[in-house]
Amino acid sequence: MSDDQKKKADKEASSGETKEPAVTKKVRVATTWLDGCSGCHMSFLDIDQKIVDVAGSIELVYGPLVDFKEFPEGVDVTLIEGAVSSHEDEEKVRLIRNRSYLVVSFGDCAVTANVPAMRNQFKVDEILNRGFIENASAQQGIPTIGVPRLLKKARPVHEFINVDVFLPGCPPPSDAILFAVSELLGGRIPDVSGKTRFGM
Ligand code: SF4
Repeated sequence: MSDDQKKKADKEASSGETKEPAVTKKVRVATTWLDGCSGCHMSFLDIDQKIVDVAGSIELVYGPLVDFKEFPEGVDVTLIEGAVSSHEDEEKVRLIRNRSYLVVSFGDCAVTANVPAMRNQFKVDEILNRGFIENASAQQGIPTIGVPRLLKKARPVHEFINVDVFLPGCPPPSDAILFAVSELLGGRIPDVSGKTRFGM
């Protein structure tokens, strides 16, 4: 400690003044799911008590795990689960990209379209007919109100927006999620090779 610093510390001690605690800015994290089964979010929750290690460093500002309606401005990291399957999904990923510093493709459905892409061999009309008329035992009819319009194909997130980190797995194991989040909090782009793989 320099003489000046020592004098300042002595002065504070003798006057009873206390130093203001350092304010550490929390990392603003959001999650969302598009055309997915929520399994990736379940794996996120499986982190269990290890999440305590990072919980103090993050502020969860949007997602199915918290009750905020609008995707906010100024998000540091957003994890996107699921493929882009509807016009609503497409609008959402573009909004997320505009408002997020880093975007993570979270799970195989986001990375490759995976399960949602199974419908891609059929036309949208065929799928809707099959689901809402042919296989419906009651109230047959294709809904038009309050239902997002499907895109012709379910596609991975990076076909619409730039993605900074790919975290494959169906779902990604909770340890891999914790590793990726911890690296991002440390200001590093995580290298997840060896920690998760497609279809895991
Ligand atoms: Fe579900 Fe697997 Fe898709 Fe995640 S990657 S949303 S676990 S199907």
